Amino acid sequence: MSNLEDRPEEVTAGPAVTPGVEIMTPRDVPLGGPRAMRVRRTLPQRQRSLVGAWCFVDHYGPDDVGDTGGMRVAPHPHTGLQTVSWLFTGEVEHRDSAGHHAMVRPGEVNLMTAGRGISHSEVSTSSTTTLHGAQLWVALPDSHRDTAPRFDHHAPAPVTGEGWEARVFLGSLLGDTSPVPTATPLVGAELRLAPGTTLPLSVDPAHEHGVLVDAGVVGVAGTDAKPADLAYVPPGRSTVTLTSYDEPVRLLVLGGPPFGEPIVMWWNFVGRSHEEIVGFRAEWQQQITDAGLVDGRFGVPVGERLPPIPAPPLPNARLKERR
Ligand code: MN
Repeated sequence: MSNLEDRPEEVTAGPAVTPGVEIMTPRDVPLGGPRAMRVRRTLPQRQRSLVGAWCFVDHYGPDDVGDTGGMRVAPHPHTGLQTVSWLFTGEVEHRDSAGHHAMVRPGEVNLMTAGRGISHSEVSTSSTTTLHGAQLWVALPDSHRDTAPRFDHHAPAPVTGEGWEARVFLGSLLGDTSPVPTATPLVGAELRLAPGTTLPLSVDPAHEHGVLVDAGVVGVAGTDAKPADLAYVPPGRSTVTLTSYDEPVRLLVLGGPPFGEPIVMWWNFVGRSHEEIVGFRAEWQQQITDAGLVDGRFGVPVGERLPPIPAPPLPNARLKERR
């Protein structure tokens, strides 16, 4: 990468702000339940619904499970998306209706493809005392959203350099490539920086990126982002320089080309129209009977013991397209 390409980002005097980098701050959302674990949601937002195909970013913890009761998300449906689970601390038990029973562990990605429909549950294990991680969704393009459900797991070997360590769980970054297939080009990686590190990250200029900061303040192409912020970097850069200051940094880099298809998102569904979402909701509600969850579009999670979560009522207004 030539210095010329990097030059616009190399303004380091003072709290420089590079035009184009946009700091998105989280909102606090209770996940529900008696003691309600809370998450910091940075996507979707009113002004931005997607970063590449990434359409949902929840960041949580570190939470003392003794205070929050941990994660106990009963069976619920998904369509038209993939869920990407990434933990920093703790352990979560996953069950889905495509027959997968798996553990989500720190440094290992679990990617669940809903395709035309799946249901799953997520419960933190009894040995978990601290929960800390991110729950991410990827919108499937029209060409892939009716596929059969599937599940992929990958434990990336760390890639290291001077003052940094990376785990690339989707796509390619820093010389490593994840074997997990994606329907649109995507990047997903955890990066840790030692204090005082400058890392010029070579990226695909066709991609836009979101840098989710977990710990420490980090300069993202010249704009500082603090923990829980999502720094949005528009397409057009071949280098995104990350800078740590006097504390260690941990962050996630999420990227991909602008999605380009309008989507309708409601509850746990990604569709293309109001009517489609109404139909998905009705099909899930039909699976919930006095005898428990019965088979249908979304199936029944394997070995499930928790009762399913009914869909909330639809809003009175028509659901709007996001782009
Ligand atoms: Mn889910």
